[in-house]
Amino acid sequence: MDLTIVGCSGSFPGPDSASSCYLVEADGYRMVLDLGNGALGPLQRYTGLDQVDAVCISHLHADHCLDMCSYQVFRTYHPDGPLPGIPVYAPAGAAGRLDRASGGESAESVAARFEFRTLAPGTVEIGPFLVTTRHMNHPVETFGFRISAGGKTLAYSADTGQTDELAELAQDADLLLCEASFAEADGLPPNLHLTARQAASYAARAGAGELVITHLVPWNSKDQVMGNASAVFPGRVSLAAAGARISV
Ligand SMILES: [Zn+2]
Repeated sequence: MDLTIVGCSGSFPGPDSASSCYLVEADGYRMVLDLGNGALGPLQRYTGLDQVDAVCISHLHADHCLDMCSYQVFRTYHPDGPLPGIPVYAPAGAAGRLDRASGGESAESVAARFEFRTLAPGTVEIGPFLVTTRHMNHPVETFGFRISAGGKTLAYSADTGQTDELAELAQDADLLLCEASFAEADGLPPNLHLTARQAASYAARAGAGELVITHLVPWNSKDQVMGNASAVFPGRVSLAAAGARISV
């Protein structure tokens, strides 16, 4: 399984990265995991937009889903004619939310261009992937993902505050792709995001083989994020970087 970091900037695009977007590939199948604002551009460096087989959206915050609006335009007005629907696994209400973000009065609903499938905690097969989802701890309904193929497993936190569900989702995963939006500080709001120390503690608790810290907010110090995570997780730690390709 191959993971490409298309965008890893937390909460809003940064100077060197779009918002959240990851390309996960196995057996020639291409699955896009989140499509945050700014991500549709760099996604084209790694796959033709007409070569995507499925999309998973963790939650309906703009930095995780907004470029679905632009992707609808690509698939609707393609010079070869409208492209066939592909499955989009997303929280309930996704199509309506994206329609409103697209302008609300469009004749073409996003639901007509994609095959929306409402996520619920559980396990589904998507192409060659076995995908298990759990609710994370975030102000809107948010799913974390455990993606397995070819005997390897990638876990993705999406956005989350502290939750046991994350440790269970990442249990013995080969790689945990985990958010760390908060710099260490007193009085951080609960049920929203993790610090790098917290992300690393979940990776250690889950026995993950490797930790990649993502959702890096541009105003945080990368050195501090790296230092804090490395102090807690004994295995290999790295920071997500746009364009990085990781073999899981
Ligand atoms: Zn969020």
